[in-house]
Amino acid sequence: MILALLACGPHLPPAPDLGELVLPAPVEGLKVRGAVVATTKMSPHLAVAGGEKHLARGPIWVFVLEHPTEGLVLVDAGYGRRTAADPKDYPGGFATRTLDLQMGRPMADLLADIGKTPDDVRHIVLTHVHTDHAGGVQDFPNATLWVSGTDWDWGRKKRTLHGVEPSAWEGREARHPDYDDGPVGPFAAHADLFGDGTVRVVPAPGHTPGSQIVWVQGEQRSFVFLGDVAWIAQGVEDVLPKGGLARGLLEDDWKLEMDALARAHALLGQPGVEVVPGHEPTDVARFPMWPQPW
Ligand SMILES: [Zn+2]
Repeated sequence: MILALLACGPHLPPAPDLGELVLPAPVEGLKVRGAVVATTKMSPHLAVAGGEKHLARGPIWVFVLEHPTEGLVLVDAGYGRRTAADPKDYPGGFATRTLDLQMGRPMADLLADIGKTPDDVRHIVLTHVHTDHAGGVQDFPNATLWVSGTDWDWGRKKRTLHGVEPSAWEGREARHPDYDDGPVGPFAAHADLFGDGTVRVVPAPGHTPGSQIVWVQGEQRSFVFLGDVAWIAQGVEDVLPKGGLARGLLEDDWKLEMDALARAHALLGQPGVEVVPGHEPTDVARFPMWPQPW
């Protein structure tokens, strides 16, 4: 089956009918930053179907929002202090080897650069429960976790091949968005987490069963954090699924994921909208370096 997937191009599902694109109104008062807490090697064949272009190492991001009333909000948590201490302990030897994982400073340590501590983090919004997005939650025991109910259930079981290692969130409670705040931009449904339009989550299943996109309204621009709906920019630009091996082994339902990908594609080039794939190497140069605000 794997050989068949590698040999043929993917048969793509039909693109969704998007209608007229209406963007949400700007919201004042939110500051957005991003930090690369680790890097991994990026295989072009895995990153995108038909991919051949050499890719530099891929960033593992944590995005930090300073919300005027909710305090510090993280979008994804990357790997944390446990990985910095010993990657073989978390995410484990298999993931460390296959990703060629190189850990930098975890977010719990980086926060000192903006005069904050891990206790200041009030919320963590997870795009999905893969270790490179969720492992760092352990460093923020007082934060409220926001994760889809579907991913939370799915992520309770260790799934080494799928990149799930639940020891980082064992015993934690989580809140699950209900996506009943109507459409936003090209997406059919979303949840407005704080009721002020600053942080909206959009269901985007496929990469994992309960993946979500996080749409953040900054002071000047909005940021659409795709999680791993696309790993690299070419995936969104050309509306391409991941490579055959990734589709066959890692992703839960890549055809389902194409719906969110096609909708994210419609946002490219929209004024004031930054679409941010999960691990695009060139994004490290596109955005200001930590701790500069975006
Ligand atoms: Zn992932």
